[in-house]
Amino acid sequence: MKIGIVGCAGRMGRMLVQAVHATPGAELAGGTEAAHSDAIGEDPAMLAGLPGSGLKIISDARALFEASDAVVDFTVPVATVAHAALAAETGTALIPGTTGFSQEEQALIEKAAGSAAIVQAANYSVGVNVLLGLTAQAAEMLGPEFDIEILEMHHRHKVDAPSGTALALGEAAAAGRGVDLNQVSDRVRDGQTGERTVGNIGFATLRGGMVVGDHSVIFASDDERIEISHKAADRGLFAKGAIRAALWTKDQPPGLYSMRNVLGFD
Ligand code: NAD
Repeated sequence: MKIGIVGCAGRMGRMLVQAVHATPGAELAGGTEAAHSDAIGEDPAMLAGLPGSGLKIISDARALFEASDAVVDFTVPVATVAHAALAAETGTALIPGTTGFSQEEQALIEKAAGSAAIVQAANYSVGVNVLLGLTAQAAEMLGPEFDIEILEMHHRHKVDAPSGTALALGEAAAAGRGVDLNQVSDRVRDGQTGERTVGNIGFATLRGGMVVGDHSVIFASDDERIEISHKAADRGLFAKGAIRAALWTKDQPPGLYSMRNVLGFD
């Protein structure tokens, strides 16, 4: 399959180019960058530390969508929303790994899934997708006497908080309890907060160094505590999962899919 990488000079973009190179059945269709990027005109493969591909990084996303069977997008929300519209227009599959969408932006991605296969995941690792399933199961089994707190840590360059994965874990816990996360989410605690609200799901965010991505879900009652944790060791993990998702879209009808569909968990 021909796979295009938008934002191919970014931290994840370079990993994605490497993952395409390392995956049998995947071929790099090309890469784009923001119009003002210094990387325009460079070879996306060489930028990722690979032998030259003869391709040049362009800023014309439409041309890349037309040349690709699937496009992988780890950029910024405003760019990903524009790319989702291009996926819908061209029928090209899209793997949007970007996090930090507003509800309106997320609705536009869901609308595009009416015309193209889209595999969206806050996290493309197998381990985190198992953690999501375990979190929903534990929340259902443990009941409301257990407080649920979600803790995440990422590198100092991350721009959105809490992480998309932390929010997905919150959604999984809320689904396990049969509640709406928007009604029970406790995102910020500072100063005289009063006692913890029964039934709320709390989030704590840490940032520092080069941490690739740590997540813990803590279930705490009066007598005991359960903690389920995942630590990503190398961001290549997300890139490999995203390319696996891109290959999976071959012959899939339009629709919004998750990594759980790709991994066969559902
Ligand atoms: P980064 O800043 O290193 O890279 C983003 C790249 O996108 C930059 O090179 C930027 O120039 C480019 N870009 C911006 N606008 C563009 C446009 N219109 N067209 C083409 N390129 C454009 O960031 P990063 O660390 O690689 O992370 C990118 C996103 O991926 C973040 O939202 C992050 O949270 C998310 N992420 C998701 C997962 C996952 O598994 N879902 C894993 C890691 C990171």
